[in-house]
Amino acid sequence: MNPGSVTVNGRSYRWPQRPLVVVCVDGCEPEYINQAIATGRVPFLAALRESGTCLTADCVVPSFTNPNNLSIVTGVPPAVHGICGNYFWDRDAGAEVMMNDPKYLRAGTILAALADAGAKVAVVTAKDKLRALLGHKMTGICFSAEKAGEATVAANGIGGVPAMAGMPVPSVYSAELSEFVFAAGVKLMERLSPDVMYLSTTDYIQHKAAPGVGAANDFYAMMDRYLRELDALGAIVVVTADHGMNAKTDAFGRPNIVFLQDILDRVYPVGTTRVILPITDPYVVHHGALGSFATVYLSSPVVVSDAATRIAALPGIDIVLPRSEACARFELPEDRVGDLVIVSERLTVIGTSRHRHDLSGLDAPLRSHGGISEQRVPLIANRIAGALPPGRRWRNFDSFDLALNHLQ
Ligand SMILES: [Zn+2]
Repeated sequence: MNPGSVTVNGRSYRWPQRPLVVVCVDGCEPEYINQAIATGRVPFLAALRESGTCLTADCVVPSFTNPNNLSIVTGVPPAVHGICGNYFWDRDAGAEVMMNDPKYLRAGTILAALADAGAKVAVVTAKDKLRALLGHKMTGICFSAEKAGEATVAANGIGGVPAMAGMPVPSVYSAELSEFVFAAGVKLMERLSPDVMYLSTTDYIQHKAAPGVGAANDFYAMMDRYLRELDALGAIVVVTADHGMNAKTDAFGRPNIVFLQDILDRVYPVGTTRVILPITDPYVVHHGALGSFATVYLSSPVVVSDAATRIAALPGIDIVLPRSEACARFELPEDRVGDLVIVSERLTVIGTSRHRHDLSGLDAPLRSHGGISEQRVPLIANRIAGALPPGRRWRNFDSFDLALNHLQ
């Protein structure tokens, strides 16, 4: 069956003419690839300079994993699909809740629409937190590397995944978790030749190692080998990222942290202000739940304007915007954002209260993301694009548009 095209969330996508693999490399600041190319260890990626397409795209701010993965697979920003963090304050429920339940998703995915129209679709994600969202209402294969050992035909469209991938299930905090995604992806392409595959890795290495550092180059050399295999199997391969990554430290490697809840609690009655860090998730060991984006709920319009002035004056703060302005600029859903949005500068992260952040798990100087300083990401393909619209601001959530409407 080939319906010619599918329309999803107001955008039309041509039917895949050959297998398509979209890869979201978690935390892939463009400089990681640039530095890896300089070492000569990523020959496949290096060759795409001549034989492929290399664009720089903007991700969604907050530059976090879930809002961006969901933007990529829906083709629209969080204002439409609803997922604007890992975590938000549910005013109706009066509680801080995780946003990784598909009930918070307000738009269908391109993956589900293609599957409904008859395409064979496969999704492999490193961490299980994304699996339910990415696979929402999708017929096909969908599993995480983290829970690969538990995948079954009934629940995930496939079983026996570790044997297929040829790797044991790795630790959730490891580079191997991402390698598992690639290894499984290559085997799926060999054996089942899906029309569309979405692979999403984890930023474990990017949180630990700066571009050009040994562990980072090792990661990209590993990735390069698998991308070359996917290319050799005839797939169109598009590589993008959910967000970039930067050091968040001073010159001695000590974290620059604005503990925003502590600051507000010194000015306003305790309990009347609430700092929400949408980076918070069950996997905080490598970043201590510290990122460059926060939203704050306050008790009255007077406090909102007073707090905005005070926060904007703090060292390390990039911008402070009221909800409506922030949601217009960053394309966020107003009902899931606080009264103020705060973005910190490149070298600074925002915390709640000092005692709520456990930094004991940090075994390397803090690297994180969330801000505008992590918005630029690569958008690379192994095909030369036709004439692209001049001056277009590419987004990472244009990956399927680029792949299906401009490359084939
Ligand atoms: Zn990420």
